[in-house]
Amino acid sequence: MTTPGSVLIVGASAAGLSTAEALRRQGHQGRLTLLDAEPHLPYDRPPLSKQVLAGDWEPSRAQLRTQAQLDALDAEFVRGEPAVFLDAAAREVRTATGRVLSADAVVIATGLTPCRLPGQRELAGVHELRGLDDALTLRAHLTAARRLVVVGEGVLGGEVAATARKMGLDVTLVGLGPAILADQLGGPASELLTRTHAERGVALRLGVAVRELTSAEGRVTGVRLATGELLPADAVVVAIGCRPATGWLEGSGLTLGDGVECDSRCRAAEGVYAVGDVASWLHEGLGRRLRLENRTNATEQAQIVAANVLGADRPYEPIPYFWTDQYDIKIQAHGLLSAAAEVSIAEGDPEQGRFAALYHENGQVTGVLGWNMAKQARVLRQQHLTARPVTA
Ligand SMILES: Cc1cc2nc3c(=O)[nH]c(=O)nc-3n(C[C@H](O)[C@H](O)[C@H](O)COP(=O)(O)OP(=O)(O)OC[C@H]3O[C@@H](n4cnc5c(N)ncnc54)[C@H](O)[C@@H]3O)c2cc1C
Repeated sequence: MTTPGSVLIVGASAAGLSTAEALRRQGHQGRLTLLDAEPHLPYDRPPLSKQVLAGDWEPSRAQLRTQAQLDALDAEFVRGEPAVFLDAAAREVRTATGRVLSADAVVIATGLTPCRLPGQRELAGVHELRGLDDALTLRAHLTAARRLVVVGEGVLGGEVAATARKMGLDVTLVGLGPAILADQLGGPASELLTRTHAERGVALRLGVAVRELTSAEGRVTGVRLATGELLPADAVVVAIGCRPATGWLEGSGLTLGDGVECDSRCRAAEGVYAVGDVASWLHEGLGRRLRLENRTNATEQAQIVAANVLGADRPYEPIPYFWTDQYDIKIQAHGLLSAAAEVSIAEGDPEQGRFAALYHENGQVTGVLGWNMAKQARVLRQQHLTARPVTA
C-alpha cells in the first residue's frame, strides 16, 4: 500500500491516541482525525479502580495528555460522537449524528463493552466500571454505602474489592471461578491472592453463580446466588468481563470473531487496522491468535500499527504483560501464565509477601510472575522469555 494521505482513528483512548502519536513520530504529515464516543479528554483507565475510586487522585490526574500536548499533535478530535457504521472497502465511517468521515486508512481502537447481568441497567445501585463517569458515580455511591457485593473474581473484581475495603465497606466477592484471578495467574498465586482478600476481611463466595439481583422500588437490595443464599447489598459492582466493542462494525465487511480479526500485521482489510483491546491478531511467534486486554499492549501494538499504516510490513509479536495492584500488593505478569503450568519460586518467599515465580510448560518457561518484586521479575523475563518460544 502507498503511504496514506489521511488517517482516521476510531477510539481515542490509550491505543488510539498512542497510534496517533506514533504516526506523527514516524513521519505522517497528512490529515489525522480521532473520533471518540466520550466527551472527555483522553484518560487512563488503570487508576479508575484504584487511585480515582479510592479518592487518592483528582480525576484530572488520570488524563493521558494535557490540552497543549493534544494540540501539538495537529489532529482533529471529534468527541462525544460514536461511530455507528464502517464501510471497510470505502474506508468510510458514519457517526451517530449522520456525519460521514473517510480516510485513506482507518484504525479501529474502540476497546471493550462491559458484560451485564439481566436487568442490571434498570436498577439503581448496580454499577459497572469501564469509564471515568462510572468511576465517579461508583465512588460517590461507595462513600455513602455500607454493604458492597462485587460480582466477578477477575482483575477488576479483585481491585474494586480491595479499594472498597480500604474505604471501609463490608465487601462480599462472588465468582464462578475457584479463586481470584485463577485464569490469569494460575494456582498458587491466585490462591495466595484469594487468602489475602479473606485476611483483609472480604467475604468470599467462589465457585458459585449469581441467580438474580433482588430489588425494591427500583433499587438493588441484594444478590441471590444459585445456592439460594441472599447477600444483602446497598451497592453492587458487576465485573464479569467485557466484549470487544464491535457492534458498530456489523455489516462492515470485516471478520468479527473475538474482536476484529486481523492478520499478523494487525490489518483487518486493505487500509483498515485494529489496535488495543478490540484487536484479535495472529501472533506469529506463538503461532496462534491473541487478543490482549491490558494497558501495555495498547501502547506497544500502536507502534506497530502506525508503522504498518505507513507502509512497513512488521508482525506484532509482543511478550504479553499486565499488572494489577490490590491492597499493598503489586503483581506483574509477563508472558503466558496458564493455570496448567508448573510454578517454581525463583526468588523471595510467598509467606513473606515478596517473590518472583517462573511458570513452566512443556519443559520451557512460558511466564514470569512478580509479587512485590517488579525488578526481579523484569530480570527473569529478560533471562527466560522470548516472543518466539521453541514450541511455536
Ligand atoms: C477500571 C480499569 C482498570 C484497569 N487496570 C489495569 C491494570 O491495572 N493493568 C493493565 O494492564 N490494564 C488495566 N486495565 C486495562 C487497560 O486500561 C486497557 O487495556 C486499555 O485501556 C485498552 O485501551 P484501548 O484504547 O484499546 O481501549 P479503551 O481504553 O477501552 O478505549 C476505547 C475508546 O473507544 C471509544 N469507543 C468505543 N466505541 C466507540 C464507537 N462506536 N465510536 C467511537 N468511539 C468509541 C471509547 O469511548 C474509548 O474511549 C484496566 C481497565 C479498566 C477499565
